[in-house]
Amino acid sequence: MKAASFDYHRGTSLADVVASLVADPDARPFLGGQSLSPTMNLRLARPARLIDLKPIGLRDFAADESRFHLGAGHTHAAIEDGLVQDMTRGLLPHVAAGIAYRGVRNRGTFGGSLAHADPAADWLTVLMLLNGSVHAMGPSGARAIAAADFVTGAYATALAGNEILTGCDLPRLSETARWGWCKVNRKTGAFADALGGAVLDGALCRVAVGAIDAAPMLLLETSTALRAGGVPAAVDVAPVECARLLTHLDADGRALRGAAVVRALQGMH
Ligand SMILES: Cc1cc2nc3c(=O)[nH]c(=O)nc-3n(C[C@H](O)[C@H](O)[C@H](O)COP(=O)(O)OP(=O)(O)OC[C@H]3O[C@@H](n4cnc5c(N)ncnc54)[C@H](O)[C@@H]3O)c2cc1C
Repeated sequence: MKAASFDYHRGTSLADVVASLVADPDARPFLGGQSLSPTMNLRLARPARLIDLKPIGLRDFAADESRFHLGAGHTHAAIEDGLVQDMTRGLLPHVAAGIAYRGVRNRGTFGGSLAHADPAADWLTVLMLLNGSVHAMGPSGARAIAAADFVTGAYATALAGNEILTGCDLPRLSETARWGWCKVNRKTGAFADALGGAVLDGALCRVAVGAIDAAPMLLLETSTALRAGGVPAAVDVAPVECARLLTHLDADGRALRGAAVVRALQGMH
């Protein structure tokens, strides 16, 4: 099947794009098109008008001593290849390299992935793991949305239909930061069946679980155990906390997520 017919608008500025979305509630913005076009081809989405965000870039990058800002338009491949300066001691390039396969990574973007909010998307779990904030621009101006408030359900976010996700603020990791990441999937290039992430960098100590058919979760008890007793203590707590929290999954699903988190903890370096 192919997409239903639609009009195409080449965005010229952020203000132009927001005005176009306000003027036409049936319009949809897009970046890489790697999730939107399959959805349109299956006719699960039938936007009357597509607004192309690529011409306006959204590929900004800025950093201060503690945080950095990553524009929405950076592709997974640019992050993987280090074309975007890495401030996470290798975490972001490592995650990017595990997303889909190279053809998708060449076009798919960091911001498009967050906006699409597939529960199995890697960047959503990174956002929760690092406690980032999403930046949006709409008719009322710019605003920031905390990681914990961003995803409201499967494929649903706090973004209004006429808001553009412009980028994300993330903490800058130090040279002594330790992190671990585990993606469980059946074959290279497939979406995750389970995601686990852990980071320990001074006051930043967080463990997260993703690909849980809902918003990624921060594992508070496991994070506390990691801080207090290191990896061995956290490894003991993680499967128990996953089993307690992920009651919407069956026993195998809970065990799989627990195993992903344990592997992420054991892989911390
Ligand atoms: C075969 C295949 C395998 C994949 N495997 C993985 C995987 O393992 N892990 C993973 O994380 N992802 C995976 N993906 C998804 C991929 O990462 C996509 O690139 C990503 O989900 C969407 O990015 P995009 O830039 O292509 O977004 P688009 O397809 O352009 O847009 C996606 C959605 O977000 C909206 N949107 C886009 N940009 C904005 C914006 N700036 N503001 C507001 N709304 C916006 C669009 O309206 C649309 O609804 C896979 C995709 C394919 C096709």
